Amino acid sequence: MTALAGYNALITGGGRGIGAASAVALAEAGAKVSVAARNENQVVEIAADLRESGYEAFAFRCDVTDPRQVRELALSATEAMGRVDILVNNAGTATSNPLPKITLAEWQHILNVNATGTFLCTQAVWEGMVERRWGRVVNVASIAGLDGDKYISAYTAAKHAVVGFTRAIAAEGRAKGVTVNAVCPGYVDTPLTDETIARIMHLTGKSWQESLTSMLEQVGQPRLIRAHEVADAIVELCLEESSGRTGEIVVLDGSESL
Ligand code: NAD
Repeated sequence: MTALAGYNALITGGGRGIGAASAVALAEAGAKVSVAARNENQVVEIAADLRESGYEAFAFRCDVTDPRQVRELALSATEAMGRVDILVNNAGTATSNPLPKITLAEWQHILNVNATGTFLCTQAVWEGMVERRWGRVVNVASIAGLDGDKYISAYTAAKHAVVGFTRAIAAEGRAKGVTVNAVCPGYVDTPLTDETIARIMHLTGKSWQESLTSMLEQVGQPRLIRAHEVADAIVELCLEESSGRTGEIVVLDGSESL
C-alpha cells in the first residue's frame, strides 16, 4: 500500500508497543517516518529495522514532557523529512494505585506524559499543518479516556484530558485541512500491559494467565487487542480519504472478530 506516499509522519513513544507498530504501519503505507521516544536505543533500532526493509526512517530521543526537547524534536523531524504532515501522539505511561496512595509526583507525572505531552507535541507542529492546509493528528487515548475504573484515577484523568483536547483541537482544525482524532483501545498486547499483569500477579499471587483473565473480565474485554490493530486504525485516520473524519473517538475494545 502506498496511500501515504509523499507524506511524513512523526510518532512519539515509538520505541515499542503501539508506537513501534504504528511506525511500521505508516511506513508500509508509504509515509516517511520519524520515531521519537525517551529511550533512544529502542527508537534507533526501530528506525534501523525500517531502513533495512527499504523505508525512510529517522530516530530521535525526546521526552515529551520537556517543552525544549519537544521543540527540538519538531525542528529535527522537519529538517530530516522536510515537514511533518502526520503526528501520532502515542507516548504514554500508566500506574495503578488506590486514591490514598497516589503521590502528587505520580499524579503529575501521569498527567504530564499523557496529556501535557500531547498538548506540547501538537502545538509544536500545528502551525505548519495549518499553513499547508493539510495535517493529521492522531492521539492515542484509551477506553480509560471515556470510562472510569478503580485504581487508575490518574491515568483515567489524563486520558479524559486527551479525549477532551482532541475534540477541542478538532474544532480549531476544522476548515483548515487539519483533522484531529483519537483512538481509544482497551488492553493491548504490549510491554505496558505486561507490566500491569506483573503488578496484579505481585499483589494477588495469581498466575500470569489468571491475572490476565481477571484483568480482561473486569473491563468485559474478550481478548487482548494486538498492537497492529491499533496501528491500522491510526493509518486509516491519516489517509487522504479520511479528510472528513475529525473529532472522532475510535474505540477498539477487542470485540471485533480477528
Ligand atoms: P509501552 O509502554 O509499551 O510504550 C510506550 C512508549 O512511550 C515507549 O516507547 C516509551 O519509551 C515511550 N514514552 C514513555 N514516556 C515517555 C516520555 N515521557 N516521552 C517520550 N516517550 C515516552 O506502551 P503501549 O502499551 O505501547 O502504549 C502506547 C500508548 O497507548 C500509551 O499512550 C498508552 O497509554 C496507550 N494505551 C495502551 C494500552 C495498552 O493496553 N497497552 C491501552 C490503551 C491505551
